[in-house]
Amino acid sequence: SLVCEANNNEGRTLIVGGNGFIGRFIVEASLASGRPTYMLVRQSNSTCPAKAKTIKVLQDKGAIILQGSMEDQKFMEKALKDHKIEVVISVVGGASILDQLNLVHAIKAVGNIKRFLPSEFGHDVDRNDPVEPGLTMYNEKRIVRRRIEEVGIPYTYICCNSITAWPYYDNIHPSEVLPPMDQFQIYGDGSVKAYFIDGTDIGKFTLKALDDKRTINKCVHFRPSSNLLNINELASLWEKKIKRTLPRVTITEDILLDAANENCIPQSIVAAFTHEIFIKGCQTNFSLDGPKDVEASTLYPDILFKTISESFDDFVIKINDQPIDDVVQIIDKPVKDTVNRLTMATC
Ligand code: NDP
Repeated sequence: SLVCEANNNEGRTLIVGGNGFIGRFIVEASLASGRPTYMLVRQSNSTCPAKAKTIKVLQDKGAIILQGSMEDQKFMEKALKDHKIEVVISVVGGASILDQLNLVHAIKAVGNIKRFLPSEFGHDVDRNDPVEPGLTMYNEKRIVRRRIEEVGIPYTYICCNSITAWPYYDNIHPSEVLPPMDQFQIYGDGSVKAYFIDGTDIGKFTLKALDDKRTINKCVHFRPSSNLLNINELASLWEKKIKRTLPRVTITEDILLDAANENCIPQSIVAAFTHEIFIKGCQTNFSLDGPKDVEASTLYPDILFKTISESFDDFVIKINDQPIDDVVQIIDKPVKDTVNRLTMATC
């Protein structure tokens, strides 16, 4: 094999989808924790400069690259055995959820995998029903959950709620896009609260949960009280950061439902989830008292979550790559605003 092996066997972790939007945070956190970190990447990545670059950066930080596809069960079984993988994290995107069934079967066949984290990283899909086409994605995640439970693999479901960013209803990768500089789109009356978790914390707390006995066969909910805001509050916080007030436009429930109903994938899925979060309140409309529920800030009380304010400071810095104090000057200039909208990873 041309693959350079890790020096130690302890905690060997395979991440599938590690060069994706959420996946990168998971790989970074795994590397930071010192675990031998393997990334499964598909052949097609080598022909896409942007993806090849991401992979190279992670490889330079110590990630060990395995080339192949999760859909190939025999290949996966061999890879898991050959590299003595102990835990597997899948962070594949919405279009590949059901393909994880092959991975589940490979993990089952190999037999000694200590933990599997399927691609969840959002809401507790057993708790609410979004409108279509969001429901189809929930149903697929539910099918994967049920198969994992049937075959008896030790698992953890990460329900990290929203990644901190402005929650545009037409954009799948929120934190890659800057919050608005022209106007806010407020969903409904803007009073429904949601949890906003920094991408780095999605990685950090996922890695904490990975070896924790308390999270075996559990759902880990990320509900730090410091990170709970409604969209009106989110808008006010951003206004404070940019030292300027912006007009607020109401996006009604009907507008969100129409956008979902267009069934344009993936944007309509995002519209369905936006409706689910900011109209129906799916992140807060149930209490964590089920037998599978554990909560991240309660499990790890000594580790602080990055606040939304701190994450917004990062966005301000990104706006001009200048220190925050200089932003007053920046915002007097014509605003660049939504240039970055819809930066879905394309190749
Ligand atoms: P992306 O589409 O950005 O990335 C998916 C990755 O999976 C890509 O690297 C892709 O590889 C890889 N992949 C897909 N199929 C295979 C396969 N058969 N074999 C190997 N690799 C494969 O995904 P996201 O980060 O958007 O989504 C990941 C999870 O996070 C999803 O469950 C999603 O619902 C959730 N999510 C949560 C958000 C939140 O705010 N909480 C926001 C966005 C997503 P390749 O490059 O070859 O295509």
